[in-house]
Parts: sequence; C-alpha cells; structure tokens
Amino acid sequence: MWGDITALDPGLRDILFAILALSFVVFVALFGHVPALRRTPIGWGYTFIWKTAPGWLTRVDMAVTGGLTVRSVKNLFNYLMYEKHPLIQLFYLGLVSGGLYLFYLGGWPRVWSPLHSFCIPIVASLPYISLYLASYSDPGYITAANHQQAMKLYPFDYANFKPGYHCSTCHFEKPARSKHCPICKHCIAKEDHHCVWINNCVGHKNIKYFFAFLMSTNILLTYGFYLTYFMIRQIVIESLPAGSSFSDMSWGAYSNQFFLCLILDVWLGIVCLLCLMTGLMSYGFTGYHLYLLWAGTTTNETFKWADWKEDIAAGEVWMARDPSRNPYTGRWPTATRGPLNAHNWPVQTDKIIYRIVNQDEMEYLDKHLVWNRVESLEEVENIYDIGFWRTLHGVIWDAKF
Ligand SMILES: [Zn+2]
Ligand SMILES: [Zn+2]
Repeated sequence: MWGDITALDPGLRDILFAILALSFVVFVALFGHVPALRRTPIGWGYTFIWKTAPGWLTRVDMAVTGGLTVRSVKNLFNYLMYEKHPLIQLFYLGLVSGGLYLFYLGGWPRVWSPLHSFCIPIVASLPYISLYLASYSDPGYITAANHQQAMKLYPFDYANFKPGYHCSTCHFEKPARSKHCPICKHCIAKEDHHCVWINNCVGHKNIKYFFAFLMSTNILLTYGFYLTYFMIRQIVIESLPAGSSFSDMSWGAYSNQFFLCLILDVWLGIVCLLCLMTGLMSYGFTGYHLYLLWAGTTTNETFKWADWKEDIAAGEVWMARDPSRNPYTGRWPTATRGPLNAHNWPVQTDKIIYRIVNQDEMEYLDKHLVWNRVESLEEVENIYDIGFWRTLHGVIWDAKF
C-alpha cells in the first residue's frame, strides 16, 4: 500500500500527509483523556497539548507582557468551556450548511437517479432536526419537585454511588448515577457528559436524541462521501484519453487521477474530503458510545472506574459484604416485571467498597463487616451492566420521573 502512495504526485502526497497529521493532532487533543488511552503516546500527547505547551507559553507571556495575553485567553477559555454558549453548535451548523451548499453547487447537477434526488433532501434535513431535539430537550434535570422520583430511577451500587451524599449546590441527596453539571447548573439524572456540540448535557432523558444526532450525522457523511466519491470517479473515467481503459489503471495512477479531479472539481472535492475526515471522527464517537451501552456504563462512570483501577493497583481499596442493606425497602428487590427502576433492577450486589489512603481511616469503616483488600477490578461488580439490548431499551423508552 505504501508503495502505491509513493507513486502519487509529490505535491498531492504532501497535502494528503498534512491532512492526516492534522486529523491525528485533533484526535489526540479531543480524545487523549479517555481512560483507555491514558498511558499511551496519545495520552501523553494530550498532556503535552493541554498542559506542557500552555505552561511554556505562559512563561514566555509572563516575561513579555506580564501575563496579559494568558489572562485574556483564560477568560475566553473559561467562557467557552464553563458557560452555555452556542458557538460549537453554530460551528456544526456552519459545516453542515456549508457542505450542503457546496454539494448543491458541485454535486446536485451530477445526481444520477431520481431516487437520490428524493433521498438527498431527507438525509440533509435529519441532522438539523436531531440537533434541535438533542439541544432543546431536558437531559433529566433533577429538581425539588421530582427528586423523590429521581431517587428511584437507579439503585445505588455502593461503589461509584452510595446513599447519603448531598449536592452542595442543589442541597439534596444525590440519586445514583446523577452528576451536578456546573455548566447546566443542575443535577442531571444518569449524567453521561456535557456535550458542547449540542450545548446541553447528555443524560437519562435525552440520550436517545443524542444517539439520533450521532446517527443522522453518520448517515449524512456516509451518504455524502458515497455520492461525491462516485461523482469524482465518473469524472476520472471521463478524463481518460480515448482508447485507454479504466480497468487497466493501477491503484497509484487511479489515486493520482482521483486526487487531480478532486482538486479540479473543487466543490465536489471539498465535500468529499470533509465527509471523509469528519466522518471518521463521527464514527469514532458513535463507536465509543455504543461501547458504553454494551459495557453498561456512562462517560462519567468510566472516569470513576478508571480511578478505582488505579486505587486498587495502589492497594488502597477495601471491600466488605453487607447483605442486610437496601436503601428503600430494607430487603432485596423481588419484582421482575414493570419498568426498570431501583426497586426491580435485575442485577444486585451486596458488596461495598471504599478507598482508604491512610491506615487510620480504617476506623471509619463499619466494624460489623469484614473488610478485605481488593486485588483486582474484577472483584467489583458493575450492577448497571444489564446487557446491551436491555440498556438500549432503557435509552429509547426511558423510565419517567
Ligand atoms: Zn446539583
Ligand atoms: Zn451540562
């Protein structure tokens, strides 16, 4: 394959490598903090981009302007990161609308069948509808009025979520799987993450719209790539000198000709490359969220699990079995029918874990229980992992509260 790439025109090859390098840097900057990548070159690259390099720039700025530039950038950064603002939504809308306009200029006259003329407007409108639904839907705000109901959504797992912890802002007991979002300024039921693309939290009530948003973006980008790829391929065929055959072309010659046509028909070329590059990111993000469904966890909880893993490796985690406890009924749930909630959740555990950093903290552990050091994360059960299809069912038909 690399032998073929060297057959490319050197100018085109440089452009291709520059695009690949830039995409890689963007990937590292956006996804390097994911726990699975923490101790890899991608994780180190993330630390360099967000910690090491800004540290160097700060020192230069302190010496030159006394820190003025850094303060302004920090204020802007804080606004962008910790306040609700529509800039990333507008960026998304700009990319989609700009791409569609360029497709209208370069691609619409080349649409080769009435079926596509019919499908294109539908596929093009889906991202707008799903973005609207995801952005303006209630992610699961917990208020004084619905707090009691929210407490019954999920059982406590006595690992990541234990009863008796209060939100210092909302002043009520935190329901299992909830998290206070400082940007939305609410506790959110089953908070997954605050998403800048939709300028809203992704949580118990709106994760279905978030998936719709991801899927409609994937469909648009895949369809856009498919259409523009075959249009450019047609241009390559038309551009061949009379007498030469398309099937005789080597991969190197074909890709050379393809990239040439990509640049000659610039609107089509931009749409094709845009769909390809952003499509890889969109698919990666969708894949990650499908993995979370499969693993029965959330973005928020993966960070907690990653912390447990490190604490267990450090020998700081202790576990006991406490069969007597159930926060609501004082007994194990028995119901197996009806909508899933804390009372009839299918997976239960009688284990409880705590992190003990200093030995004298052992004093605070319940002395009626027998405490053992946890050797591996395998010993801890994820009670929220009830299988992919049941989790998906709960995403689509979320329990009301
Ligand atoms: Zn709160
Ligand atoms: Zn939020």
